[in-house]
Amino acid sequence: MTRKTFPLDKKALENIAEQYGTPFYIYDEAAIRNNIRRFTAAFSLFPSFREYFAVKACPNPYILKILAAEGCGADCSSLPELILAEKSGMTGEFVMFTSNETPAQEYIYANMMGAILNLDDITHIDFVEKTLGALPELICFRYNPGPLKEGNAIIGKPEEAKYGLTYDQIISAYADCKKRGVRRFGLHTMVASNELNPDYFIDTAEMLFKLAVDLQEKADVRIEFVDLGGGIGIPYRPDQNAVDYEYVAQGIRAVYDKIIVPSGLDPLSIRWECGRPITGPYGWLVTRAIHEKHIYREYIGVDASMADLMRPGMYGAYHEVTVAGKEWKPYDHIYDVVGSLCENCDKFAVQRSLPKIDLGDLIIIHDAGAHGRAMGFNYNAKLRCGELLLRENGSVVQIRRRETIDDYFATLDFTGLGSFSV
Ligand SMILES: *Cc1c(COP(=O)(O)O)cnc(C)c1O
Repeated sequence: MTRKTFPLDKKALENIAEQYGTPFYIYDEAAIRNNIRRFTAAFSLFPSFREYFAVKACPNPYILKILAAEGCGADCSSLPELILAEKSGMTGEFVMFTSNETPAQEYIYANMMGAILNLDDITHIDFVEKTLGALPELICFRYNPGPLKEGNAIIGKPEEAKYGLTYDQIISAYADCKKRGVRRFGLHTMVASNELNPDYFIDTAEMLFKLAVDLQEKADVRIEFVDLGGGIGIPYRPDQNAVDYEYVAQGIRAVYDKIIVPSGLDPLSIRWECGRPITGPYGWLVTRAIHEKHIYREYIGVDASMADLMRPGMYGAYHEVTVAGKEWKPYDHIYDVVGSLCENCDKFAVQRSLPKIDLGDLIIIHDAGAHGRAMGFNYNAKLRCGELLLRENGSVVQIRRRETIDDYFATLDFTGLGSFSV
């Protein structure tokens, strides 16, 4: 049982809501720092370890700067993400470019930054060589183990996933790159998403370690790092437990001692590209109850919508909901807590037991710090909310303003309308 917490009491939250308006995201800097330190400490069992924070999970330069200061790099998959990482002080080999279906200009920019190119397909060897004029000194490939490895609900079965190279392709890809002058090599996979079973990650590491040994024998290349991708889940539901970082690190270390050390591949660097467990539990969407309706069910209408937080509507994902100041009241009402989109899936909570909600109450949606604001969209011309950061000293800064109507109209051209005829 994981009890959900929130770093501010009702009075402090009301003050912030008054200053910035609702809805908003708020992130807890102290908690993010504390968590990344625990994560890094657990994996210090390896000769060299680095977390490349998956920028897509929380693409805000303030958050990236905090993580950069804690020693993290960035995992990017588009040109704007590369620029975000760079502006936040992450560059060179502190950037993993794990992209797919990548346009040529993005490879050019990533290479200019000195980022590590993680190729998603064997045909990208020619593509990158042609685009850049020559292959970079260091290259990485994403492995898709196919039916050898069971997937999970969000990512699906690896053999049905669009990512990565097959076993046979990956052996020839490294051999080919070596022939073409590449001198340094990394190996990557990502086969799960939001997975809570810690053994899954130990199995994944074992699979990559064995592949690194195969690559030494069959392609005559020495892998210098293994990137385990992302996929570590968080306990969205109160009856779930967080992944124990120490357990995973020690389990992977045991496999490392069994496979990597005897093969002569030690020291081998271990890397992660986690997003969700790094910021997910330390960000909240705060919204106000603005309507209630009583039809076949009891509804609470809030001023945020699925355009601010898409996970419940898109995946049916569970997010814990609490009511500021009513944490200890009896949970004796059943509500659907809903947003304003003209889509019936726009529900933050369905048939949820909650304390009695009054209009004006501040509703806190938990575990929204990763894949939250980042997945927001503008359907129904909804304007996305902004983001706040609770600093370590207790002050609050706005790190992204809410969208305005002008933002929505910024890509439209009204000046040509006068001469437009049908
Ligand atoms: C999404 C993604 C991640 C991060 O996943 P989380 O579930 O947020 O940890 C890492 N690497 C790649 C390639 C991804 O697509």
